[in-house]
Amino acid sequence: FSLAPGPTARDARRVPAELAARLRAALPEGTVLTEEGDRTAYLVEERSLYRGQAPIVLRPRSTAEVAAAVRICAEACVPIVPQGGNTGLVGGTVSGAHEVLLSLGRMNRIEDVDPLNFTMTVQAGCVLADIQAAAEAHGRLFPLSLGAQGSCQIGGNLASNAGGINVLRYGNARELTLGLEVVLADGRVWNGLRALHKDNTGYALKHLFIGSEGTLGIITRAVLKLFPRLTDRQVAFCALRDPADALTLLSMARDRAGEAVTAFELVSSFALEIVEHHTGGQSPFTERHPVYALIELAGSDADGTLRPVLESLLEQAFEAGLVADAVIAESLEQAAALWRLREGIPEAQKKAGGSIKHDVSVPVSRVPAFLKRAGDAVAAAMPGARICAFGHLGDGNIHYNLTQPEGMEKAAFLARWEEMNGIVHDIVVDLGGSISAEHGIGLLKAGELRRYKDPVEMELMGRLRDALDPARILNPGKMVGLG
Ligand code: FAD
Repeated sequence: FSLAPGPTARDARRVPAELAARLRAALPEGTVLTEEGDRTAYLVEERSLYRGQAPIVLRPRSTAEVAAAVRICAEACVPIVPQGGNTGLVGGTVSGAHEVLLSLGRMNRIEDVDPLNFTMTVQAGCVLADIQAAAEAHGRLFPLSLGAQGSCQIGGNLASNAGGINVLRYGNARELTLGLEVVLADGRVWNGLRALHKDNTGYALKHLFIGSEGTLGIITRAVLKLFPRLTDRQVAFCALRDPADALTLLSMARDRAGEAVTAFELVSSFALEIVEHHTGGQSPFTERHPVYALIELAGSDADGTLRPVLESLLEQAFEAGLVADAVIAESLEQAAALWRLREGIPEAQKKAGGSIKHDVSVPVSRVPAFLKRAGDAVAAAMPGARICAFGHLGDGNIHYNLTQPEGMEKAAFLARWEEMNGIVHDIVVDLGGSISAEHGIGLLKAGELRRYKDPVEMELMGRLRDALDPARILNPGKMVGLG
């Protein structure tokens, strides 16, 4: 195993001039874009950290078209960067000047909903919110839910093994997938599109492609798992003294309400402050508190069934001195307003100045230790840095973001991105955690992955990539970073 690339796609000096002509001859009109104006939307990146450069953008409508495109590019030794909704936060869809970008956005058909089998079959370019709506229309729930759901696509969700707010109860995208269809690096199609809840016939190949960020194959279709629709949702927002109390409250909530706990989100004092200041959100409390928790209980019984469960949970928490103050939403509108206090944080951060971001996880029981140690280390390294910590406490996944200190130039602050990442990630790894809980590796964290990942694990990942894409046709430079 070696980091040096062999005679691979990387050696293709430029996209051969005749490649666009070959692709045009093989694919329907309107599939191959080469004009600069037509390509621009596919070359921008969510965080504006990178700029894509692909001279050719492909927009296939079917698996056969994806396969034909991959075959032609593989023969020409030109790499392909798959792109879904382009909402990823780690530069996974950034294309180089010698690469072709392949957008799945026109493969957006929901092919089948089978409410009795609790499954649906979809093309990779379906927008997540459309999938949720289709499930709802059939009296079912597709529980993957995240801030970008109006534009991210299921292929991108699976390729990045997306998490979101309901992981505590339903798991990541990985746990929600029964079958996949994938175009391989040589253009062959693997049809693993099985709608089976049990299938022990060999290696679970689907799990190789889920979370592989487009480096092992291009996901073209998927069979997704559905669940009973939720008819009762109860939301509370609680003020707490510290993260340790939030952790005890989480444990108490799971003991009392079991599977009904669908979300348990942490919001730091600073996070709530900027949401109030920049997005018009309003704290339900008159006083400020060090930390807040948003709890959602949900079930399939009559609306209101879980209300007494939530009330008695909060009563018990008050008596135990865990909760300083709390409100329970009285209506769907109030529940939505409480959720906006949590979901408005990314937008508020953009307005509050530059951010250095971390998407980390530690064992749930170690979140308070992580927050304490990281807070002390950040304060020592960069006095005045404002810590915007929030996220999925129930999964041990904290978005630990630093907002630029007042008075510091944004450029000077961002110049310390790597240094601050190192400080935070060293603590995460020391606590047995992960430097990327749900956003993936992409370009942004490829270097750090090499630094922190066990060498044996890196070697196994490299071997898998060699086995499935020996010429490095698929999304080179991302994740494993092997060229
Ligand atoms: P893209 O950004 O297009 O691609 C992501 C990666 O997958 C790239 O490496 C790409 O090459 C690859 N890829 C895309 N489609 C395919 C395919 N069909 N086959 C193979 N590879 C493919 N993420 C979370 O996990 N949880 C959150 O709570 C969350 N919240 C977010 C909130 C906001 C406001 C934003 C902007 C982003 C958030 N994200 C979150 C990150 C992002 O939305 C997710 O990672 C999402 O799953 C990406 O989907 P996409 O379609 O936009 O993928």
